[in-house]
Amino acid sequence: MVEAFAVASGKGGTGKTTSTLALGMALAEEYDVTVIDADTGMANLLFHAGLDDADVTLHDLLIADRDAAVEDAVYDRFGMSVVPCGTSLTAFEAADPKRLRDVVAELAAGTDVLLLDSPAALGSKSAVLPIVLADRIVVVLQPTVPSLSDGLKVQEYAHSYGTETAGVVFNRVRDDEDVDQIADQAGRYFGGQTLASVPESDAVRAARRSGEPLLAHAPDDPAADAFREAAARLDVRD
Ligand code: ADP
Ligand code: MG
Repeated sequence: MVEAFAVASGKGGTGKTTSTLALGMALAEEYDVTVIDADTGMANLLFHAGLDDADVTLHDLLIADRDAAVEDAVYDRFGMSVVPCGTSLTAFEAADPKRLRDVVAELAAGTDVLLLDSPAALGSKSAVLPIVLADRIVVVLQPTVPSLSDGLKVQEYAHSYGTETAGVVFNRVRDDEDVDQIADQAGRYFGGQTLASVPESDAVRAARRSGEPLLAHAPDDPAADAFREAAARLDVRD
């Protein structure tokens, strides 16, 4: 494997899942990409990737007595290998988050780039493990100071486990927002990298409703361009 990235944020709804799939599709032009929905409590990547009725998911791999094989939870979608997670609360409660380490190790052995769609909060073991397991984090934020402050905490946590910062994706940016000023602050706090400024876009919402990632549903949308730019700036290490 080349590198594992955790796509993380302080709060929910910033666009982590949207970003994970968009970055994954952009990187899949050059690399073998595997995407894992590691947000095991609030999993929703399956809805973004047309995998609502996936039979075997990450939950089955995290529950010991289900005896599922890792490859059974891997689906070929949009040029990537996608490991969705189920939405059952019972399965989430039965899942042993520690098993994620072995699942990630097995998937890493067979891919170039691993993207972990990560939970928002830092409150529990299952929430922080994806960040701990990754080489670098991509922080997805709204371009506001409170959002930056949240992201900074995620970064501090990541750094304490030796996970570096790849940079920040500013998402849902409106025309009237002064991204340059916020990006300047982000530059100071987040190791210098603003990966992209992704506009608020109807195409992103339409993509979600269609069950296709943005880069499949509306590849020419400005938001798709911004995500491709972010992927290029990640400068995946060979
Ligand atoms: P998270 O995984 O961080 O909870 P999602 O990627 O699921 O966030 O996005 C949350 C909601 O916001 C989704 O309905 C998604 O379609 C919408 N969304 C995300 N990014 C954008 C954007 N740039 N423009 C418009 N809607 C967006
Ligand atoms: Mg999500």
